[in-house]
Amino acid sequence: MSDIQSLLALQHDDLAIHELESRLAALEPRIRELDAKRQRIADVIARQGSTVAAEEKKQAFLRDKIAEHRELISRNQAQLDAVKTMRQATAAAAQMEQAKAIVAGEESDLLALTRKLEEQRAALRASEAELTACEAEQATARAEVAGEQAAIEGELATAQAKRAATAEGVPAALRQRYDRIRNKRRVHVLVPLNAMACGACDTAIPMQRRHVMSTGTVIELCEACGVLMYHAG
Ligand SMILES: [Zn+2]
Repeated sequence: MSDIQSLLALQHDDLAIHELESRLAALEPRIRELDAKRQRIADVIARQGSTVAAEEKKQAFLRDKIAEHRELISRNQAQLDAVKTMRQATAAAAQMEQAKAIVAGEESDLLALTRKLEEQRAALRASEAELTACEAEQATARAEVAGEQAAIEGELATAQAKRAATAEGVPAALRQRYDRIRNKRRVHVLVPLNAMACGACDTAIPMQRRHVMSTGTVIELCEACGVLMYHAG
């Protein structure tokens, strides 16, 4: 096999690999889209969860306060029962009224807070249900993408093994030259001449070089775009 033929065979294998890699990369937006949709709901849940936790803390604090103030009221009641003079009785009664008013205010705050908390918990549960539904809905799509991914990766492994075998047939110096160009993210490295010009960039090739290439065995570098050129005959 000539150098040109062996290099064309290598490029053929690389194009197949490139095609598989492109297909693999094309799956990524699908996965990202699924992830983003799921994440949006998860973020809402995180926010709602921390709101509920903060409100629960307030609720516990308020309950402690109410218990404390109720305790105060019962102490005031005991004092009131023990007073000897009218003046002491008036003072104790006033103190107790004040404590009762405070407790009444706190209880109404607690009631409002408890209602709000119920609504927030319901919203959190709704979001959790939405997440479960989203995950169930996505399961099929994710399995599909994973299946495609595994299939392409399998094909890719085969293609890479084939490429390695083909590379054996290309002289080392030529292969290195080819690989250097390909590593600059070029897909087509070895291109046929198009009439009298480079098949990639259409730059005209001097008569002398064209003549050398016309034997069909010489590979030349295009000075303009950096590809390797050959005469297709
Ligand atoms: Zn060129």
